Amino acid sequence: METITTRLKTLYNEIQHLATQCNSQNTPKLVAVSKYHSAESIMEAIKAGQRIFGENKVQEALSKWPEIKSHYPDIQLHMIGPLQTNKVADVFKVFDVIESIDRPKLVKEIAKQQEKTDKVLRYFIQINIGNEPQKAGVTPEDLPSLLTLCGQMKVDISGLMCIPPAKENALPYFKRMHMLADQHQLQDCSMGMSGDYPEAIKAGATLIRLGTAIFGSR
Ligand SMILES: *Cc1c(COP(=O)(O)O)cnc(C)c1O
Repeated sequence: METITTRLKTLYNEIQHLATQCNSQNTPKLVAVSKYHSAESIMEAIKAGQRIFGENKVQEALSKWPEIKSHYPDIQLHMIGPLQTNKVADVFKVFDVIESIDRPKLVKEIAKQQEKTDKVLRYFIQINIGNEPQKAGVTPEDLPSLLTLCGQMKVDISGLMCIPPAKENALPYFKRMHMLADQHQLQDCSMGMSGDYPEAIKAGATLIRLGTAIFGSR
């Protein structure tokens, strides 16, 4: 029977294999996206060795993670969902990485929280790589000016994140993302979900974000 444990073991092997196959210098890290899933499911993943997790809602994360993290201080929790400025203080209570920075107002609020809490998280900018009107993220064209602001505000950006257009071949978008990250000397490229992670690995992802492939559909 397939369990979270067996799926994770299979995925670790597959990710390693895909990275070797395409001569990638790095094996991407797996972010286990545990949104909608219970603390019991999360505990099973932790016992299988998983340490990086992603959530897309602040309230849901606050209800599950402070307790778990108190027992496993080496866990890294990534915020991957759209973020309102009035939730940033809560984000600082439980998250280690914010992958979904997408506008100047959010950068300013993060700067304010850094000052207030004397704490610094890791930060990625979300790119709307397909220039889709309904989608979150800054367009590649607007990235330089947002990076400049981040520099001024001492919000130190270490990577980019994207969700490519649905129902299209994702590979060209992932390649463009990798080029963008290179251009701006950003180390991390968070791309690839359950439906398209092999393409993301091929294009040089450093982090892939998988929910369904680990936890099943809800
Ligand atoms: C839900 C989600 C994922 C994981 O999606 P799956 O298709 O379940 O692997 C990855 N990234 C973001 C931003 C998400 O919201």
